[in-house]
Amino acid sequence: FDLRNEDLKDLQELGQGNGGSVKKVEHTPTSTIMAKKIVLIDAKPSVRKQILRELQIMHDCHSKYIISFYGAFLSDPNICICMEFMDKGSLDGIYKQIGAIDIDVVGHVALAVLEGLTYLYDVHRIIHRDIKPSNILCNSQGQIKICDFGVSGELINSIADTFVGTSTYMSPERIQGAQYTVKSDVWSLGISLIELALGRFPFSESDPDDSDLSDFEGTLSPSRPGPLPAAKSKADKAKKDRRKSKGVSLQGGGMMMSILELLQHIVNEPAPKLIPEGRFPKEAEDFVDSCLFKDPDVRKTPKDLLQHEWIEKAKASTIDLKAWANTF
Ligand code: ADP
Ligand code: MG
Repeated sequence: FDLRNEDLKDLQELGQGNGGSVKKVEHTPTSTIMAKKIVLIDAKPSVRKQILRELQIMHDCHSKYIISFYGAFLSDPNICICMEFMDKGSLDGIYKQIGAIDIDVVGHVALAVLEGLTYLYDVHRIIHRDIKPSNILCNSQGQIKICDFGVSGELINSIADTFVGTSTYMSPERIQGAQYTVKSDVWSLGISLIELALGRFPFSESDPDDSDLSDFEGTLSPSRPGPLPAAKSKADKAKKDRRKSKGVSLQGGGMMMSILELLQHIVNEPAPKLIPEGRFPKEAEDFVDSCLFKDPDVRKTPKDLLQHEWIEKAKASTIDLKAWANTF
């Protein structure tokens, strides 16, 4: 593909994240449907070109657990990244729509993410750095793939100061300033899996272990139900719903303090668990616990965890993910 902005027809707004937005587009010369991520980069032309060069590594990433890449280009003042469109969206949207996700499906999510992380690291020495439900995508064929991994050091630097929204999946060692390693991604995976299985972000006021978070305005769920343009007229209702669901607006006053408290909590308190004990299979509880060892030296790598009993069970299971993906 030789991608040019003129050849991409906007079809639908898919969502907004830190420093960017994603649209469903059609590449009209080839009738290919794609997801186009637009990242606003406030950087010198030389840096922007460097980012573009670094992104080309994505052309060499081929795995059924990784979103495929069509290409990237500069469109002043943005960088546009075109990737495979996943028609069922991200897992955060899915659980918010259908509720807590069945633990056997969550097992397959774990398997897919571990396979994707192992591929990225073993083949390309890439650490993902942003594992969370909104970066795990699903399509109507029942495939589960990860996106938005940190291929470009310059891109990571350029958007580093917008870290607030994603900080909540960050491992204790990262919060304390240690180097990023594949094990930090494993922590983020553990938090994400609990969120999917419980149907809510695990650090929350309804969690009895988190009583010291109870005077927070909300659950610190990092979701940003950014209203789509079409839903603008419903903005008030959305605001009310957000309050009802105890989501928190990052713009709200006092939110910074809450985030700092959350980071402190992650560092100082015991890691979250699949609760209540006994509700989920023992192997699932054990897997999540081993993702969430606070000491990264004790925590395993994605490759090691592919041998875990719960993951072996997911590999052997005959669950029909395509049928599951077509229930919503
Ligand atoms: P975040 O991941 O922090 O939510 P992003 O800007 O990366 O922010 O993505 C915004 C939303 O766009 C995601 O939550 C996801 O639902 C959707 N999205 C991203 N990439 C794709 C894709 N390739 N196919 C379908 N939906 C996507
Ligand atoms: Mg994303």
